[in-house]
Amino acid sequence: MSVDFLPKLTGCFAMPAAENPTVAMVEAAYRHHNIHARYITCEVAPAALGDAVRGAKAMGWIGFNCSLPHKVAVIDHLDGLGDSAAVIGAVNTIVRRDDRWIGENTDGRGFVEALRAVVDPAGKRIVMFGAGGAARAVAVELALAGASRITVVNRSRDRAAPLVTLLNEKTKAKAELVEWPRAYRVPEDADIVVNATSIGLFPNVDGRPDIDLGSLLPSMIAADLIPNPPRTVFLKEAAARGCRTLDGLGMLVNQGVIGIRYWTGVDVDPVVMRKALADVLGV
Ligand code: NDP
Repeated sequence: MSVDFLPKLTGCFAMPAAENPTVAMVEAAYRHHNIHARYITCEVAPAALGDAVRGAKAMGWIGFNCSLPHKVAVIDHLDGLGDSAAVIGAVNTIVRRDDRWIGENTDGRGFVEALRAVVDPAGKRIVMFGAGGAARAVAVELALAGASRITVVNRSRDRAAPLVTLLNEKTKAKAELVEWPRAYRVPEDADIVVNATSIGLFPNVDGRPDIDLGSLLPSMIAADLIPNPPRTVFLKEAAARGCRTLDGLGMLVNQGVIGIRYWTGVDVDPVVMRKALADVLGV
């Protein structure tokens, strides 16, 4: 019998790292598809990032994820960037191609892939709450997927202005900035309303974006990036007003699917990953 005790190595560098659930869904997919690989969650301090990347290369890792606080800093340790990672200016998935480390960004792509199961974003008018790292990735991918208008609604102008400039300069979408007023009214012609803030994330599960709920219409799709809990107050209120909804677990799962495709070439089953994630999160 031929044996192989040497799995392909993948993983995640983050700090803090202990509450990152990605390992559960990725290793569930590896097991389900008989992929001889492991996914190791590593807590890496910012000052040690370069050593960690060189260590992964020395050990023959096939790729890894970077989470906070490394998504921008890791770029200095890579050999190249994929197209959307270059526009976004941040990386969350590193792929070894030949002997080069290439940085990709799957945050936004995971969202768009999950969204496509409900609607094609091409030509759609988007209202997006938030302008942080996740919002930036999602907005760029929506624009690259052909969204026609992106209204960025954010508390601080400082964070939103560079995102709106980036979208207008680097993509074909028309972007505009709204400094978040109290009880924001979603424009009637909006097609997709996205919560890309951290409002509603565990343990602050009662939080919801400050919007006039009466302005949510059944013609709209409401999407939330918050993975835990997947059914946020925002999504519950939107569903009660007839909107179709999309939760943050779909985005997380699709990022995993894309990452594993990059690393192994295998298209894994998102249902297996979603179940593993829901099991560990207890949702
Ligand atoms: P950041 O810290 O970079 O950005 C947070 C954003 O939320 C900012 O726009 C901030 O506004 C806004 N915000 C936070 N609190 C409030 C508040 N009380 N009122 C108004 N605005 C507020 O975070 P990330 O972009 O990295 O992540 C955002 C969320 O996306 C997180 O909850 C994360 O869980 C989720 N996420 C989900 C993923 C998935 O796969 N499902 C992947 C990545 C992230 P301001 O600029 O004014 O501070």
